[in-house]
Amino acid sequence: MTNKKNILQDSHGRDHTYLRISLVERCNLRCFYCMPAEGVQLTPKSHIMTYEEIYEIAKTFVNNGVTKIRLTGGEPLIRKDIPFILEKLASLPVELSITTNAVIIHKFIDTLKLYGVNNINVSLDSLVKEKFNKITLRDHFDIVYSNILLLVNEGFNVKINAVLMKGVNDDEIIDFIKLTKDLPVCIRFIEFMPFDGNKWDLSKMVSYKEVMTYVNRSFAETDIERLQDAPNDTSKNYRIKNYKGSFAIISSVTNPFCDSCNRLRLTANGQLKNCLFSSTESDLLTTLREGKSIEPIIQKAVQSKLKIRGGMDTLEKLQEPKLHTQNRSMITIGG
Ligand code: SAM
Ligand code: SF4
Repeated sequence: MTNKKNILQDSHGRDHTYLRISLVERCNLRCFYCMPAEGVQLTPKSHIMTYEEIYEIAKTFVNNGVTKIRLTGGEPLIRKDIPFILEKLASLPVELSITTNAVIIHKFIDTLKLYGVNNINVSLDSLVKEKFNKITLRDHFDIVYSNILLLVNEGFNVKINAVLMKGVNDDEIIDFIKLTKDLPVCIRFIEFMPFDGNKWDLSKMVSYKEVMTYVNRSFAETDIERLQDAPNDTSKNYRIKNYKGSFAIISSVTNPFCDSCNRLRLTANGQLKNCLFSSTESDLLTTLREGKSIEPIIQKAVQSKLKIRGGMDTLEKLQEPKLHTQNRSMITIGG
């Protein structure tokens, strides 16, 4: 690193080495917990970052200490220029990964391999076709499931993200875990989080504790292994003895991991968010287009990062609908 000052360290001493870049606000699925039923106001195309701009902004972050970049969205793979984006970002000294719904990933196997994208997170909220189609409002279960198997067979490191919701898919927790007996994937159960327009309420959420109650009821205590979590990991990791895969719980609501947070987010229209839950944004794209340095803006945004969940530091605040509407919908943040 050539910089003198660590602009990616916040006032709580957290170093930010992980940037998540949302490539697009649109999606080929309509998961009801992510995309509001009434849709979202899309940014005009001229205000969405081009692949050159994505590269320029990413390069600034990498020059200042970012070592990991994850591409997300919306659905990142629907961007026509995704091969160029991958090519450009792969030229940076950074670990590149992607979060996708996998609907069209079979078309990109060679491209992903070419640019060293080995870590792939795939969303799959149900193993029951009709239910999956109801959650996503599209009929793509078969292709998503077969693409997950394809990714595993092709040697990618696959994590499956399942957002748990009461009365929707909490009856499938054990089925998901049993899938890891023969499939070397990590199933990550995500606590349902509140964002603008997703009609969140705490009673719909399945907590870390509740997941473990299901697990403890279904498996012998001696068969449930607690795995070592990676540094800055957002998940608590487990494996059932002798299973090829593992499972994990991401408990942003009941057990936030803000103390070790190393993440920053860049939206598709070039706004820097210092936290998933933050309602403030810093406009990097306009500054870049004006030909000015974006570093001072990045530094200010990082410095102002609040200690816990963008200021929603208690469950009471998290349940305040007014605070959710100050934030974006998840589809335009990039999870
Ligand atoms: N389209 C890609 C996908 O579905 O994986 C990438 C974008 S999606 C916004 C990224 C992740 O955010 C997904 O794993 C999704 O399940 C998660 N997500 C979306 N809304 C959420 C919510 N309200 N609570 C928890 N996770 C959510
Ligand atoms: Fe699309 Fe992913 Fe949101 Fe589902 S979770 S609507 S696949 S962006």
